[in-house]
Amino acid sequence: MPIKPDETELGTKRRARKINRVLAETYPYAVAELDFTNAFELLVATVLSAQTTDVRVNAITPALFARYPDALAMSQAQPEELQELIRSTGFFRAKANSLMGLSTRIVDEYDGVVPQKLEELITLPGVGRKTANVVLGNAFGVPGITVDTHFIRLARRFGWTEETDPVKIEHEVGSLFEKRDWAMLSHRVVFHGRRICLARKPACGACPLTTLCPAYGEGETDEIKAKKLLKYELAPGREELLDKMRQGATRRELRVQGYGLEA
Ligand code: SF4
Repeated sequence: MPIKPDETELGTKRRARKINRVLAETYPYAVAELDFTNAFELLVATVLSAQTTDVRVNAITPALFARYPDALAMSQAQPEELQELIRSTGFFRAKANSLMGLSTRIVDEYDGVVPQKLEELITLPGVGRKTANVVLGNAFGVPGITVDTHFIRLARRFGWTEETDPVKIEHEVGSLFEKRDWAMLSHRVVFHGRRICLARKPACGACPLTTLCPAYGEGETDEIKAKKLLKYELAPGREELLDKMRQGATRRELRVQGYGLEA
């Protein structure tokens, strides 16, 4: 275990849990950013989210799920029609193959129902550990840590791990927290990575973790300049959106009210 010079294992654990508490206060509205109403929709949306943004995926899934509401319908899709519906998410031919492949397997081997075990989910075409954990954590309430690019970057900046391998990071970070906190922790860390602790220029001067983060200073420390770097509802001028999110408005309600949720 890492990480801050002179920090004990217990110290790292305590600091990690404090970070989680501050993130919970900062993002009380953190949720999976992909829109879904059932496990199949979440599985499909997560496969589509590779190499693109959740916002882009959310823009096309209503039409996609209206056309193919379940695994059986999607397994019988015309490839060209499916590709057209998901084209804007990029890599659409490969993604269409994955979606048809995973739908067919769900129909053939699991009676059309998305399996609930990690080892079964990762055998579906196009479904890796990350996607499986997203589905387990958010559709089935099974504790899981979703290790995506944001999570890896932040876990390393926080000094929670020095690993680069996602599976090792999942285990190492998992050992710092109670299992019941894993899913929400994942959402909060990803929210923070998308809004404040950005990849190229983290907004350290506007970050609530300055005293807890060993990487403070890796980004912009001037408060005024840092605030200009913030994204989504924390971006300058979006205070009204932030208020509504803090009051519990759902993403769907906000979209209906005309709020753009993009960065
Ligand atoms: S202090 Fe800087 S590096 Fe650390 S979490 Fe905040 S933005 Fe990221």
